Amino acid sequence: MYKNQPKIIIAIDGYSSCGKSTLAKELARQLKYIYIDTGAMYRAVTLYCIQNDLFKQNVLKIAELEPILEHVAVGFELDLQGKAHTLLNGINVEEQIRNMEVSSRVSEVSSHAIVRRKLVALQQKMGEQKGIILDGRDIGTVVFPEAEVKLFLTADPEVRAQRRYKELIENGQTVSFDEVYQNIVQRDFQDENRAESPLKKASDAHVLDNTYLEKHDQLNVALEIIKNTFKSISNPNK
Ligand code: C5P
Repeated sequence: MYKNQPKIIIAIDGYSSCGKSTLAKELARQLKYIYIDTGAMYRAVTLYCIQNDLFKQNVLKIAELEPILEHVAVGFELDLQGKAHTLLNGINVEEQIRNMEVSSRVSEVSSHAIVRRKLVALQQKMGEQKGIILDGRDIGTVVFPEAEVKLFLTADPEVRAQRRYKELIENGQTVSFDEVYQNIVQRDFQDENRAESPLKKASDAHVLDNTYLEKHDQLNVALEIIKNTFKSISNPNK
């Protein structure tokens, strides 16, 4: 049904743990688009910093990262089921980048301009051919401000923490609800208040608050927005 449509860029931004990747993956499956989890890229650089002892207390020693950043390669590989795994210097780190240590340090790492510059350039390259869905914090504002569809997801922080806590426990991680909740609130604050491309709704983004919205209802709303975009591309005067 989407086969004969022009390829577009779909930007999904929003707060931590509000289901951006679940929505993005399902949209990518239906549209046969590439999906890029940009948060995973910031998480991979954070893991590199942890592995190389680049933190003093919780503060990144940015002067030590700068000269070696060009040697930090971040990418993705697809497994046989088509699921993307994050690579750090060629090594699959998909599981490690989801742990609480990375979660608690990623917003500090992602606040630095040199880190953002590198990853934004990579994301723009990945989207050159369009037919791509990216989720993150600055996709509709900085990475692809010309994206044809922009969605901004949000939900009550307590509801987000409950969903995330359940997911982590199901994945066998040892965490408390409070730890997860505090991490979400702290990341929201850091991501919204950093000087460099803060988390912000693009003026032309559609807001989807999924506090009380079921996954399939949210998916239908997103698909309707996408269909309307295709219609207005093929009939620009309507
Ligand atoms: O999406 P996820 O929660 O995995 O992102 C982890 C962190 O990466 C965010 O809290 C934010 O600090 C950073 N991030 C970012 N810009 C993006 C994607 C993620 O700053 N485009």
